[in-house]
Amino acid sequence: MSKFFVVATPIGNMGDITLRAIETLKSVDLILCEDTRETKKILDKYAINTPTMSYHAQSKLSKVEKIFELLEEGKNLALVSDAGTPTISDPGAMLVSKILARQDLARVIPIPGPSAVIAALSASGLPTHEFTFLGFLPHKKGRETLFKEIAVSERTMVFYESPHRILKTLESLIKFCPNKKVCIARELTKIYEEFKIGTPAEVLEYLTQNTEKQRGEFTVIVA
Ligand code: SAM
Repeated sequence: MSKFFVVATPIGNMGDITLRAIETLKSVDLILCEDTRETKKILDKYAINTPTMSYHAQSKLSKVEKIFELLEEGKNLALVSDAGTPTISDPGAMLVSKILARQDLARVIPIPGPSAVIAALSASGLPTHEFTFLGFLPHKKGRETLFKEIAVSERTMVFYESPHRILKTLESLIKFCPNKKVCIARELTKIYEEFKIGTPAEVLEYLTQNTEKQRGEFTVIVA
């Protein structure tokens, strides 16, 4: 049976790739990439010459059919996203589900590695024995409801946020849960990696006073 590997790649620091991920990316017949140019950086660094093909959220049905054909021919494929673990707030979950629905088409095999949600939680010092991952918060519909849920939740809540919305999100946290402890994990594994923990108002004040820290990638944790 063909193999379909779901391969985690670095979220910033290019050293964060497992030996198994490198071996897998070298051995498969084709790598499906969210963005082939982005993945080329890591392939070049590790001298991986495997052919690539794009597979992203907007990929047409014909692309899925092509992937199925390759698997039927006995080819082994790997799926990667731009950073971190594919299918985690990234494309691929639907594809994996379709492959699994076709019995005996391929074995789906995870090659675990970096994911911003786990990296952020692991060094936040906030309770991690139970947590809920919310992915990206909705921009409009359902947003207020979600903040109300965060406010009453007894579990740690984690979500991804863009630099454009981080201040707005902190303002919402001030409104709905001013006394909760918040951690923003910024630029994980990169040069300017930083964890800032405090009440939503304290974290907002910190970012407002240090505008250069409003840039980059954010993962937000609410205890
Ligand atoms: N699949 C990825 C993973 O496993 O982490 C997540 C992909 S999602 C499209 C990208 C979001 O993850 C970013 O907008 C940011 O919120 C978060 N993220 C990714 N890399 C990060 C980093 N180095 N530091 C903090 N957050 C990060």
